[in-house]
Amino acid sequence: MLNIKTFKTESPKQKPDSNSRLGFGKIFTDHMFVMNYKDGAGWHDPRIVPFSNISLSPAAMVFHYGQEMFEGLKAYRGDDGKHYIFRPDMNAKRTADTNDRLVIPRIPTEDFVQAVKAVVKIDADWIPSAPGTSLYIRPFIIATDEFLGVAPSKTYLFVIILSPSGAYYESGLAPVGIWIEDEYVRAVKGGMGFAKTGGNYAASLIAQVKANKEGFSQVLWLDGVERKYKEEVGAMNIFFKIDGVVVTPELNGSILPGITRDSVIKLCESWGIPVEERKISVDEVLEAQASGALEEIFGTGTAAVISPVGKLRYKNDVMTIKDGGTGELSHKLYDTVTGIQSGRIEDKFGWRVCID
Ligand SMILES: *Cc1c(COP(=O)(O)O)cnc(C)c1O
Repeated sequence: MLNIKTFKTESPKQKPDSNSRLGFGKIFTDHMFVMNYKDGAGWHDPRIVPFSNISLSPAAMVFHYGQEMFEGLKAYRGDDGKHYIFRPDMNAKRTADTNDRLVIPRIPTEDFVQAVKAVVKIDADWIPSAPGTSLYIRPFIIATDEFLGVAPSKTYLFVIILSPSGAYYESGLAPVGIWIEDEYVRAVKGGMGFAKTGGNYAASLIAQVKANKEGFSQVLWLDGVERKYKEEVGAMNIFFKIDGVVVTPELNGSILPGITRDSVIKLCESWGIPVEERKISVDEVLEAQASGALEEIFGTGTAAVISPVGKLRYKNDVMTIKDGGTGELSHKLYDTVTGIQSGRIEDKFGWRVCID
């Protein structure tokens, strides 16, 4: 249990008006959570302070060797007017796994959840209410030692910032075009693909730029060794519905274990739809498309929840999935997950956590 001190801002910012386009990750609330770590003292001095710049030495380790991690989750305003977050315990557990991989000291999972709840509660008025909007929560940890040697830092900063975000789909669930990347890879087994850390994203930008140039919004990564099996998309996990069966790549160490992925698997199973977590090759998908067995492809992640895939490009071939529209299962999953989040649909799994 953290003893969090609160220092409220004396000059609250103007909140965006509810009809404005919030976009994603551009507006920040009045406060942030901060906690320090020092070898010997452990995690200490948890506090909520006015949102402000952070002052660091130019020699701070994070700038040089990238020892950092981040998380992403959302707070929602329920239809009952109360405030909720979705499965924060999962983000806390994933933080522990990421920290272990990056040799960052663990934060007890209950402390992580307590910190998220506390800072969201202070800025709960910032949670937007229009359909599809939310307050994006970005916890992160950076290595702060003033030292240019390559070694784990002895000091860290854990920060949580909050950003009101607009509906991902402004005019209904819209399918995206995806580029299967066959030159660059994102991660390999033994690397840090399963960890939520900036380095993975740094490695991904070059392919993202390439895909964007060709008119595709996201990159689908293949395995780093054979470039044969599907791994995941940008900031989403990937699912294929083939002949009535939902298939998603197994968590093999190079794939990020998405919380939306886990929710989707549990929902499909509860509806009696068979789910297979296994290797799925590019050839298998191409063959399923050719035979007409490929019913749907969709990505899953906190930002978009479900992102139907309408178009897929591999080498020089572009294929349209079904008619390029949104599949029935994609729709049902989107409506169910967002329905549980807003309280329109009963939360049978106990995923919603009230912060009031
Ligand atoms: C965060 C992330 C996801 C999605 O995870 P969720 O917990 O569902 O938001 C998928 N892939 C990568 C690379 C990510 O960073």
